[in-house]
Amino acid sequence: MPTDLSADIHQAIAKVSERIKAACAQSQKDPARIRLLAVSKTKPAEMVRAAHAAGLRDFGENYVQEGVEKILALTDLRQEITWHFIGPLQSNKTKDVALHFDWIHSVDRDKIAHRLSEQRPADLPPLQVCLQVNVSGEASKSGISPELIASLAQVVAGLPRLSLRGLMAIPEPTDDISIQRARCRQLVNCFQQTRQSLPSDAQKTFDTLSMGMSADLESAIAESIPDADTMVRIGTALFGERQKTS
Ligand SMILES: *Cc1c(COP(=O)(O)O)cnc(C)c1O
Repeated sequence: MPTDLSADIHQAIAKVSERIKAACAQSQKDPARIRLLAVSKTKPAEMVRAAHAAGLRDFGENYVQEGVEKILALTDLRQEITWHFIGPLQSNKTKDVALHFDWIHSVDRDKIAHRLSEQRPADLPPLQVCLQVNVSGEASKSGISPELIASLAQVVAGLPRLSLRGLMAIPEPTDDISIQRARCRQLVNCFQQTRQSLPSDAQKTFDTLSMGMSADLESAIAESIPDADTMVRIGTALFGERQKTS
């Protein structure tokens, strides 16, 4: 069983890496600017361990409790893994994120940002933050609407225990490549406007576009820009289908 797991992960990583490489070649992008974030939600800690052994270093979770359990189960790898919280966050769960994660991609209101900064322990580096943007309008309820990004960005950039790194989006699922690309382009436009609105020291570390999942990573790469990292968040293509929870 463990060898199968490891062989499966190696093969899946090779496939995803190949897709990333091909997409970069196709749209003339620098592969060094694409970061692979492995979304391990619903998958056991042992799968994360196997993926780490196969070379992956960034992992994303979207349920607080489950993520914390996995982080604690893999304490021996804590210095080598960067843990990203990518799910919706209620204000009564901010403390667990502030204590255990390195990044959060889903900040969408002042209250959450203030709590995270207050609860981030002084002996840890600042929590790295992306703001979640609603690029799908009516079709999605999660994320902040584009007009409100600049003011939230201002707040986050001013909080002592947070570091504002960029923007994230989860567009509505669609097979239509032109819609996929339009959503990513919208996020890129928001990113560029937001960066301009920030004080110059905050502009320097505002460098991350969190966009692209298993079904649309090619579109995300096609819309990526040279002066930001594009972090593609890949679950299914690395770890297989998840059990449906609803
Ligand atoms: C589950 C999830 C992903 C990964 O989705 P796949 O389609 O399985 O690659 C990416 N981002 C977020 C926020 C998720 O919740």
